[in-house]
Amino acid sequence: MDVTLLGTGAGIPQADRAQASILLHDEDLLLIDCGAGALFRLGELGLSPLEIETVLLTHLHLDHVSDLLPLAKARYLLGEPWLKVFGPAGTDQLVRSLHSLYPYLQSIKLEVTEIGAGCRFEICGLDVRTVSAVHSVPALCYRIEGSSTVACSGDTEPSAGVSELAAGSDLLVHECSFPDGFDVTNHTTPTPLGRIVRDVGEIVLTHFYPHCRGLEDEMARTVEGISGIRTRAGRDLMGLKMSG
Ligand SMILES: [Zn+2]
Ligand SMILES: [Zn+2]
Repeated sequence: MDVTLLGTGAGIPQADRAQASILLHDEDLLLIDCGAGALFRLGELGLSPLEIETVLLTHLHLDHVSDLLPLAKARYLLGEPWLKVFGPAGTDQLVRSLHSLYPYLQSIKLEVTEIGAGCRFEICGLDVRTVSAVHSVPALCYRIEGSSTVACSGDTEPSAGVSELAAGSDLLVHECSFPDGFDVTNHTTPTPLGRIVRDVGEIVLTHFYPHCRGLEDEMARTVEGISGIRTRAGRDLMGLKMSG
């Protein structure tokens, strides 16, 4: 399985970080979150929106969904007016509300499936398991198993549930919104993450706010130093190839 980080930023813009989006490439392509800039990054990779048929959302904050309708519209313009969207409770209402604002796009078929915490289902030939994130709105963390296993935290505080879900995976893509020293809720800083994560092959940090600027590698070293697990700071278009 190949993983490409399309967007490693968050709600406040930075020149080189699009908002949250991760592309998984196993037998099919699966997009996890679709924040602003994800569509542009797909273009940079030379991928057509037609190749993205399914989007899996961790939650509905704007920095994770802004490019969702633009992706559906790009597919419509290219002759495939449909998109499958999986996400937590509220996804159907969000997608239908957005869609209703654009009468000229009503021929687009947006097929929404809502999923809960503690679920197990198949998507794009991948086995997906969920737990609740610890965030300000309903949010899910995913463990996705195909030829290798990737766990994606979405937005969350460091959580025993997320750590358990990720255990045994080859790669954990975990948010790390702020450096140590920030007293944050709903998000993660390096030291508490290093203390709680265990038994994963590698950690890649993402979802950086501008407060992290220039500190990203140090944040990764902190997580690695405490957890003993190889940790890198994510950047847009970083490709992570996994054997298997
Ligand atoms: Zn976010
Ligand atoms: Zn969020």
